Amino acid sequence: MQNWKKLSTEQIKQRVFNALNENSDFNNSAILGLPASYLDPKVFHRDAPFLRDAPFLTALLHNPNHIGCHTLGESEEFFKGTQQIERELIRICAEDILNGEPEQQDGYVASGGTEANIQAVWMYRNYFMREYGAGTDQMVLICSDDSHYSVAKAANILGIRLVQIPVDKQDRNPDSQKLQSILEDLKAEGIGYVIAMANMMTTMFGSVDDVQIYTDAFEKAGLPFKLHVDGAYGGFFYPFSGDDNALDFSNPKVDSVVLDAHKMVQAPYGTGILLARKGLIPYVYTDDASYVKGLDATLIGSRSGANAIAVWMILMTYGPHGWHEKIHLLMYRTQWLVNQLDELGITYYRNPRSNIVTIRQEHVPDDLAHAYALVPDDHDNPEWYKIVVMDHVTIDILEPFVRQLSGERVF
Ligand SMILES: *Cc1c(COP(=O)(O)O)cnc(C)c1O
Repeated sequence: MQNWKKLSTEQIKQRVFNALNENSDFNNSAILGLPASYLDPKVFHRDAPFLRDAPFLTALLHNPNHIGCHTLGESEEFFKGTQQIERELIRICAEDILNGEPEQQDGYVASGGTEANIQAVWMYRNYFMREYGAGTDQMVLICSDDSHYSVAKAANILGIRLVQIPVDKQDRNPDSQKLQSILEDLKAEGIGYVIAMANMMTTMFGSVDDVQIYTDAFEKAGLPFKLHVDGAYGGFFYPFSGDDNALDFSNPKVDSVVLDAHKMVQAPYGTGILLARKGLIPYVYTDDASYVKGLDATLIGSRSGANAIAVWMILMTYGPHGWHEKIHLLMYRTQWLVNQLDELGITYYRNPRSNIVTIRQEHVPDDLAHAYALVPDDHDNPEWYKIVVMDHVTIDILEPFVRQLSGERVF
């Protein structure tokens, strides 16, 4: 762990306040050209004494704009103090969590996994256009049937055909045979380039794609590809719940990854972190953004610097060991739950490294699903219900649920 070290509350506070002080001061200096200032002081008072101990709330009031991508050369200097915190956050995620080489990844805090997935497909569409002279009609976006629907948004917005590969019903991996025959059909139709999105924990099942099924098939078919990993759900979980990870930057075939901090990290919404190997994000530069220093290679444009600070604060509060412990506690509770289900003979899907347990609908009476807010795969016609073992999902809460589940079975 080179970048990620646990800090005390006091150290975190000092660091954030120092960073805010390095940003431009709208009150005490003459800043004439920006459509920006502090949050409206009539509504959001800056003089409350408790703010001295509240670095995140103070950051919200200062409202730094982190427009652009700060690992790429120049950025707006008005907010340089807090941009540096974002840069550190990007390095923690890319290097300490996802095993990237030092400073060999770019990244930014996007609005969420949806934006980051669209941004990745956008980068690779432009890459194939520029490097191969390809048209969008020669490209295909490939993912599995279990992938998040943001992939469909990306395909729709960017005008690229989406092909979803059926999954094996046991392990929920993309079906290798079907993938290979689909690729042959696509080639016959004139498809020459693949943008692929592999899952590091799916939203409904917590399943993790065996990424080699994809890369072997693309290589066998002789199709150039770019590989994005959707770790929106699993990016802050899977790397900690086991040792190996074929979906991080230690795999040379992985080009980019997204991790959402507003899921397992319990950060404010607006914290999907896009990471990509150096050289890829610049494919979406628009020269039209000439008023932004360093230009803007992000889909979102203006965005809150407070979001990056919140994620950084959470990760620094735990430190790497504290984070491992947190994930292992969730794994322990998940294991407790599946042990109970096994005893009751209830069928479910769970990846052994995940905190999502997805139970077959026939085991779950409607009223129980409703009472415990279980989420169905399909609201009209559910086949599965999922339980996500979050911080607030303790065994004390799971236990009565399991008891009711067994009671319904018996009577
Ligand atoms: C939640 C999720 C997304 C979308 O992320 P948002 O942050 O809601 O935009 C994408 N992929 C997966 C696997 C997800 O779980």
